[in-house]
Amino acid sequence: MADTIRLASILEESIADGPGLRFVVFAQGCPHRCRGCHNPQTFLSVGGREFTISRLLELYRKNPLSRGITLSGGEPFLQAGPLAQLARAVHAEGGDIVTYSGYRLEQLLDMADRADGIRALLTETDLLIDGPFVLARRSLEHPFVGSLNQRLIALSEKGDRLLEDIVMPLGVPPVERIRFGVGQKIV
Ligand code: SF4
Repeated sequence: MADTIRLASILEESIADGPGLRFVVFAQGCPHRCRGCHNPQTFLSVGGREFTISRLLELYRKNPLSRGITLSGGEPFLQAGPLAQLARAVHAEGGDIVTYSGYRLEQLLDMADRADGIRALLTETDLLIDGPFVLARRSLEHPFVGSLNQRLIALSEKGDRLLEDIVMPLGVPPVERIRFGVGQKIV
């Protein structure tokens, strides 16, 4: 199994990519090509730079105040196997995992039967923020989503706590919040 991950960039400290202070990796490669995407430099799978999982863990550990790690992109599920390994190691150290995907959960569950690593990354994800960016439904007001079609989906008890920590501003339409994982095993 590959122990390197091709990334467009990393952000060692972010409060904009999920609840709390988070270490963020932006995966290189994205098949979705959403109109209005803010990260078009991530589209090609050949760009970016390779990091070993151990190097990423070293960088993550530098800040003991980090709540966990966010897997963003690009499309993290294109490199689901090695990102699941990274997420498993962060879980072992007590951190939580937020994963963005341009796929919807239903598509990922369908793909999991055919592509390696997808089920492993879903299993290691606490909070999934799913769906493509839809320019016509863009929102600048909702925390952690770019457009209102995207959903916040808890896939574990840690995901439940992450969901509870996301406070939507008063007076804006809610985005869909789903508790999928608790009591439902993704295997
Ligand atoms: S899924 Fe994200 S990175 Fe990929 S094209 Fe859409 S907005 Fe851009």
